Amino acid sequence: MRLVLVGPPGAGKGTQAQFIAEHSGVPKISTGDIFRANVSAGTPLGVQAKAFMDRGDLVPDDVTIEMVRNRLAEPDALEGFLLDGFPRTVPQAETLDDILRETAQTKLDVVLELVVDDDEVIRRLSGRRTCRSCNHIWHVDFDPPEKPGVCDLDGGELYQREDDKPETIANRLEVYAESTAPLVAYYAGRGLLVGIDATGPVDDITQRAIDALRPFEKA
Ligand code: AMP
Repeated sequence: MRLVLVGPPGAGKGTQAQFIAEHSGVPKISTGDIFRANVSAGTPLGVQAKAFMDRGDLVPDDVTIEMVRNRLAEPDALEGFLLDGFPRTVPQAETLDDILRETAQTKLDVVLELVVDDDEVIRRLSGRRTCRSCNHIWHVDFDPPEKPGVCDLDGGELYQREDDKPETIANRLEVYAESTAPLVAYYAGRGLLVGIDATGPVDDITQRAIDALRPFEKA
């Protein structure tokens, strides 16, 4: 299955991407995670991306597209993938079509939209804490770790992403409305979009996602 996950920041894309990718047996490719790993490692790509990320702006298309093109050419992605956080603009979506045609002579199967309103997004992002070593996402109120600041899974340090601070959240929502909402309309127009309500318990959302994707699974 070749699947794209879209939704506003804080819709739970990272969390659901993990579950859905495991369920579908495809690699999860998260552009945000790849950028953050490059920032932590201090690579040239990370240095280029950091200022944009810290402000909540999109990293320029040429940088992002090159990175995704390389990742999609790796052997594990040739049979299917789940893209989390890419595409985020209509030009990125058009480029994705070109990349798929070039690398595997194929097309996307489905785009899953996680639907959440702005108030819920703000509540979720401001309490979000991410594990520095395994990237697992916790929430200070909704899903707290046993010991504040420490990941239950691997003991890693939890941190608040620079772009989860209040002033940056507002900018990310604006960027989403301007650049990414048209993408949702673009995919709807191509008959590829399936939307689910992404509020409520995490397991319920995963179940909704799996049910919505079932018709697109290949035998
Ligand atoms: P995310 O973890 O998906 O919220 O991404 C974190 C940040 O990485 C975004 O706010 C952008 O600065 C950058 N980023 C991730 N994916 C993309 C993309 N497809 N295009 C441009 N910037 C991106």
